[in-house]
Amino acid sequence: MASVELNEIRKAYGALEVIHGVSLSVEDGEFIALVGPSGCGKSTLLRMIAGLEEISDGEVLIGGTVVNALTPRERNIAMVFQSYALYPHMTVAQNMGFNLMLSGVAKPEIERRVNEAARMLALGDLLDRKPSQLSGGQRQRVAMGRAIVRDPAVFLFDEPLSNLDAKLRVQMRTEIKTLHQKVGTTSVYVTHDQIEAMTLADRIVVLNGGRIEQVGTPLELYRAPANLFVAGFIGSPA
Ligand code: ADP
Ligand code: MG
Repeated sequence: MASVELNEIRKAYGALEVIHGVSLSVEDGEFIALVGPSGCGKSTLLRMIAGLEEISDGEVLIGGTVVNALTPRERNIAMVFQSYALYPHMTVAQNMGFNLMLSGVAKPEIERRVNEAARMLALGDLLDRKPSQLSGGQRQRVAMGRAIVRDPAVFLFDEPLSNLDAKLRVQMRTEIKTLHQKVGTTSVYVTHDQIEAMTLADRIVVLNGGRIEQVGTPLELYRAPANLFVAGFIGSPA
């Protein structure tokens, strides 16, 4: 596990700046939800933490170390997207272990970690199946398993449940919460669903137009929204 710190992060695409100096401290083991309307910069911010997007200005620290110059692999983070991007020709077990194999982890250790993650995610009976033989929820669980086996310092989620139907979304939300309680890995979770943010997060960060409007616990944001935008987004009367 590790803390995450953003110091005056900026991102520009050409002349167009889309993240305007964002600072944030995420504590070790904390679950942060990053919410805001479409296009406000949630994915861009997450991708800068992951090292998938160059940082135009400012610093990203993971576990107290500046990681601006490090590759995604060197940052020891794992990212879960809405599109699961599983390898269709590999089994569930192979999908979950593939990254470990590339990192040179020994086979028995891969097997041990895959089995442990499968147990946590109720995938134990599905390890020999191909992705095409799984439901949407099961596929999303495999994607999470693939992240867990790497035992990352930080989990980054980008709207991981938005492709699932409403019922499954609620079920997976509970599973993510349980998983975080068990594993306790520092998490930054992007969503545009305020209920998801309220139920999952220790603190919520409200982003708007590339700037932070407010940071607080779900209750703080609900009781004392800083402005009309936050009130509207969190859904309490301002
Ligand atoms: P969100 O995830 O909150 O919907 P994004 O982070 O995807 O928002 O996008 C933030 C802003 O940056 C948007 O205005 C988007 O159009 C712009 N943007 C994202 N990626 C690129 C890119 N590769 N080139 C130019 N503009 C981009
Ligand atoms: Mg996005």
